[in-house]
Amino acid sequence: MAEFDLDGIGMTSQRTRDRLVKRLRERGIASEQVLGVIGSVPRHIFIDEALAHRAYEDTALPIGHNQTISQPFIVALMTQALFNRPRAVVLEIGTGSGYQTAVLAALAEKVYTVERIAPLIERAAARFRALKLRNVRMRNADGNVGWADQGPFDSIIVTAAARHVPGALYDQLAIGGRLVIPVGDEGLQELLIIDRDDAGFSEQSLEHVRFVPLLRGTRN
Ligand code: SAH
Repeated sequence: MAEFDLDGIGMTSQRTRDRLVKRLRERGIASEQVLGVIGSVPRHIFIDEALAHRAYEDTALPIGHNQTISQPFIVALMTQALFNRPRAVVLEIGTGSGYQTAVLAALAEKVYTVERIAPLIERAAARFRALKLRNVRMRNADGNVGWADQGPFDSIIVTAAARHVPGALYDQLAIGGRLVIPVGDEGLQELLIIDRDDAGFSEQSLEHVRFVPLLRGTRN
């Protein structure tokens, strides 16, 4: 599990992070573990400087390439759902800014994250270096096929909206594993929780959400 190196990058924003945590608690996030991590990850370093002053608002923000860093409430909700029990090895599809990845890295032993847009991977990698996060592995690829040679995964999180759950993600989910994924068309999606046990898969819907679409292929 990762700890965050906050020398010089985090201390001044602690009070604003505490306010964000308070707000997430009011909105119903109950996991102290998740709230603790949101209170310690410096979200402002995952956002371009011009917008960094808004980093601790509970809102999605643009990160370039038509993509967004997810709203903290949604990050907290998905992370709380994913870690309803300890999960050692996590696969994330849609690295984006890397913020959700850093939150996962604080709770899991190892995080594998896949992003189709190469420059986003590079920027996220620099942020992980600054935080001295060492338990994250990244890949520039189409996440629709998962990351076959590293699976099965104890949990899988998809941070872009899929029309249908990609078959490869079912295949790469361990027995006892949990997949959290927004499914639906561009306007509105359902956040699905899919559990796998010896008997097969079961599914529940958690909330209506709005994510950017899960696309195909890679981009330089
Ligand atoms: N968790 C990220 C959310 C980024 S938005 C954050 O908080 O910053 C969703 C991301 O999914 C975008 O960066 C987008 O490029 C990526 N994405 C979309 N389709 C993908 C695919 N097929 N494979 C991998 N990444 C994909």
